[in-house]
Amino acid sequence: MQVPFTSKLPLVGTTIFTVMSQLATEYGAVNLGQGFPDFNMSEDLIELANKAMQEGNNQYAHMHGLSALRTAIAEKSTVMYGTEICAENEITVTPGATYAIYTALTTVLKKGDEVIVFEPAYDCYIPTIELNGAVPVLISLQYPHYSIPWEEVKAKINSRTRMIMINSPHNPTGAVLSEADMQELSALVANTNIIILSDEVYEHLIFDGYQHQSILRYPELLSRSFVCFSFGKTYHCTGWKLGYCIAPAYLMKEFRKIHQYNCFSCDTPKQVALAAYLQNKEVYLLLGGFLQQKRDYLRELMKKTPFTCIPSHGSYFECYSYGDYSQESDKLLAIKLTKEYGIAGIPISVFYKNGIDHKVLRFCFAKKEETLQKAVSKLYSL
Ligand code: PMP
Ligand code: GLN
Repeated sequence: MQVPFTSKLPLVGTTIFTVMSQLATEYGAVNLGQGFPDFNMSEDLIELANKAMQEGNNQYAHMHGLSALRTAIAEKSTVMYGTEICAENEITVTPGATYAIYTALTTVLKKGDEVIVFEPAYDCYIPTIELNGAVPVLISLQYPHYSIPWEEVKAKINSRTRMIMINSPHNPTGAVLSEADMQELSALVANTNIIILSDEVYEHLIFDGYQHQSILRYPELLSRSFVCFSFGKTYHCTGWKLGYCIAPAYLMKEFRKIHQYNCFSCDTPKQVALAAYLQNKEVYLLLGGFLQQKRDYLRELMKKTPFTCIPSHGSYFECYSYGDYSQESDKLLAIKLTKEYGIAGIPISVFYKNGIDHKVLRFCFAKKEETLQKAVSKLYSL
């Protein structure tokens, strides 16, 4: 028997990351789809977590996050962006950035509120907006550079606009926002009640000498923002599912009201370990160079295939267009490459609500060189 039940997300299926990872496993394909490293995280960090458990740090941590970790995050924010963040009132440790995004949107949104979202959009944004009864107002980034059309943003702002979501370095495209973009944003929101949600999980994974334009560099913007981060990406431990949110005290107070009844507090031993490991600044400062080498390695290999690179300047990902080679839909091509050629990627059309298909696939280069080599060699027979 089933009781009458109406889905809150009738049009939502299973996330593409799970779909493609399952398909890759089923067909034994090299998985350059879902974004996770195939090399192990730091042994030192593992040891710190083990030690924390052995030393008895195994009970609930503070609801806002372990105090030492919040202090370390505040220090890192000053090192990186020259901003003083209050560890007591402006930082909350969360079980990953997805949770931080969910909580921030839920803190703010009421029925009928509009949220400006740029597409291609990371998969959790639109469902979370809709779950809160709010309305995503979709704006396409300008293909092929995936830049923000600021005139269109201006035209779409109205009295119902409650939030604007940004994401730099951007998933799935690897585009990064410039200082000029941040000035455009500042000018547009000045004298409005618009709140910003900035997804900065790839803050350290930035290449080619670009500087990450964190909201934390812009006090005016920060005073109306939730900024979301992920330790999974910074320390190659996506399975740890730990991150944090930074927001001014008046917004963070409300965020915590929801957080306290949702997960309440996060994994204690890992917070102890991260608090210690964050002291080692080189680790996060050298990360961009490390991933840039991998991006370059993939790019070089891809030159021998029919794919054309759409340059990524940050994140774990680079997009490749195949429109000159085939007019097959990106979803079908992604499935065919996985099943018949043994390499899994992610079709970009799934990040557009109306499925715009520019014939582009995303590949994750956060992999060992041998993995990238093996994966791309599968494309040589295309
Ligand atoms: N935002 C973006 C843009 C991402 O790529 C990801 C995936 N790491 C997340 C948020 C979620 O991060 P987490 O795994 O910490 O929930
Ligand atoms: N952020 C990762 C990606 O873009 C996936 C995370 C997830 O599977 N939800 O591939």
